[in-house]
Order: sequence, then C-alpha cells, then structure tokens
Amino acid sequence: MSSRSKARADHRSGRAFCSTGLLGLLALCACGLIDQEEPAAPAAEGEASSPAPEVSPPSTETSSGEKKTADSQRDSAEEQSEQEASDEDVAEEEPALEGVHIALDPGHAGGIGADPARAFTQVPDGRGGFKDCQAVGAATNAGYPEHAFNWDVSVRLVPLLEADGAEVSLTRQNDTDFGPCVDERGQFPQNVGADVYVSIHANGSDPYYAGYFAIISDPPLNPAQGEPSSDLAWHLMDGLAEEGFAPSNQIAGGVMARSDIAGLNWAEVPAVMMELGEMRNAEEAAVMETEEGRQRYAEALHAGLVSWSQAQSQEQSAAEAEEPPA
Ligand SMILES: [Zn+2]
Repeated sequence: MSSRSKARADHRSGRAFCSTGLLGLLALCACGLIDQEEPAAPAAEGEASSPAPEVSPPSTETSSGEKKTADSQRDSAEEQSEQEASDEDVAEEEPALEGVHIALDPGHAGGIGADPARAFTQVPDGRGGFKDCQAVGAATNAGYPEHAFNWDVSVRLVPLLEADGAEVSLTRQNDTDFGPCVDERGQFPQNVGADVYVSIHANGSDPYYAGYFAIISDPPLNPAQGEPSSDLAWHLMDGLAEEGFAPSNQIAGGVMARSDIAGLNWAEVPAVMMELGEMRNAEEAAVMETEEGRQRYAEALHAGLVSWSQAQSQEQSAAEAEEPPA
C-alpha cells in the first residue's frame, strides 16, 4: 500500500464515526464555532440551534463501500499507469498541472474590520436563502487573524502551482480591501473558467480541538458537488497528512457536509473549503504564526492538487481507453 493509500485508509477509518456521529458532534461543536462565512450571528440561520436538518450525512455503509470500490479502482489505475510509465520510460516533460486552471479563495478579507456593517449585507446563498456578505473570520489567541493566514498561504501556494504549469486565479488581490461577498466567491471559478476551486480557511473553535478538515456543499446542487468535490477534499487532506499535519480531532472522518456555505453552493466545479487547522489551539497557532508553517501548508495543498489532477488525467485516460473504436 502506498503511503498515500495508507493515509487515505487511515483517514477513512474514522469516516463511519463522522457519518453516524455527525449530528452529535454538531451539537458538541455547535457549528457556530466552526469557521463560518458569516460572523457567529447567534442562530441567525439556525445553524447552532437546528443543525440537524441542514446536514445530510452520507449513508454509512453504502457510501463508504462505494467509496472503497472507487478507491481500489483508482489505486489500481494509478499502479497500472505507473507501470506503463516506467515500461515506456516516458520523458515526464509536461508539467504536472499544465492546462489546469485553479481558482483559489483566500477566505475572508483584511478590509472587513473597517466596514463591519457592510459585511451584514444579505446575499443569495445558492439554495434560495440568504447569507451575510462576509465574515471577519477566526484568529489565534495572540491575535493573528485568519484572513492574513489564508492570504499568506494562498500567495505561497500560487508560485508552487504556476511552476507546475497551472493557471491560478485568486478571488481577492490583496489582504487590505473589503473583498468579494461569499456568493461572488462561489461564482468565481466558473466566471474565470477554472477547473477546480479551493477556499482556504482555518477554524476557530475550542483550544482542545486541532487538525484539518474539509467542507463540501451537501446535498449537491450540481454534478460537480458531491463525489467530485469529496474526492478533491480527500486529495487535499492526503497532501496535508503527508506534510505531517494531523486530521481534525473534532470532525472525525474529515469531510463535513454543509448546505449553508454560499461560497460552495454556487460553485459549478469541484469545490472544497479547507479548514487547515484550529487557530485557538496553541500548538497549531504556533505553526500558523510562522512563515515556515505557512509554507508547509502551501506545499501540502500543492501536493494535494497535483495528486487530484493526476487522478483526473488517469480517469480520463482510462475512460478513453474503454471507449469502443469508432
Ligand atoms: Zn474562515
């Protein structure tokens, strides 16, 4: 088993717990503490008071079973492809992300604090409801703000992706302006013609919570949500695991399904909100507050996107190979 397969298996061993225990966990973490697009306007959207109807946990047996089958297929496709590559001694000249357009969303924005009232402007949430335009985001206990962390990880990630041939578009161009509302962010990937969308965040819950997790829009509103977004989430989390970061001890199983994230609901490409860690946790805050730590987060996301892109290419090649001759 490759290290990535092992990491994925390790990740998924906790998945059933996530599925079955998610409702209880939501009550425990109250979701108001989970990083949000909007400030924790208490129960304004009933998130903390009635989270249960908003979440559709995947049916444990079926979805995990299907997932494992898909994984084994993918793993064997990867092995076969690796074998073919070594057989033919293919010169790997094409950069890993050539032709891939990646939309990155550095969550929140540095200019929100100067105009907090504007953040409460209501925007469509993609499911017929409304959301606050923006949220201030989390911070470490020492006051290092999430928007600055998200921004710095993003700008460190851009050159890594571009060096591999990717085109990269950012939802915001600096960490001083007010930034786009969450609905604009969700519409951003299709507006710029991106293939994939990663919204970069860090969570701000209790100090004893630590580790990364991913959020996807659920129930899916289009074919890119659901499985394609969940698949992207696992590649990104595998990248974080391989870089030495730990999965969340709060969101067991790693992927949180939410219906209320406008920035994901609007997306029409595989889309994930990555919560890279917990800013209130002293150990993780210490990593986030250093340039070295933020570089590691960027490298982990880069590895995850390369892995995702390679899997996409292999699936496409496999599908083309299976097509009968015309
Ligand atoms: Zn955030």
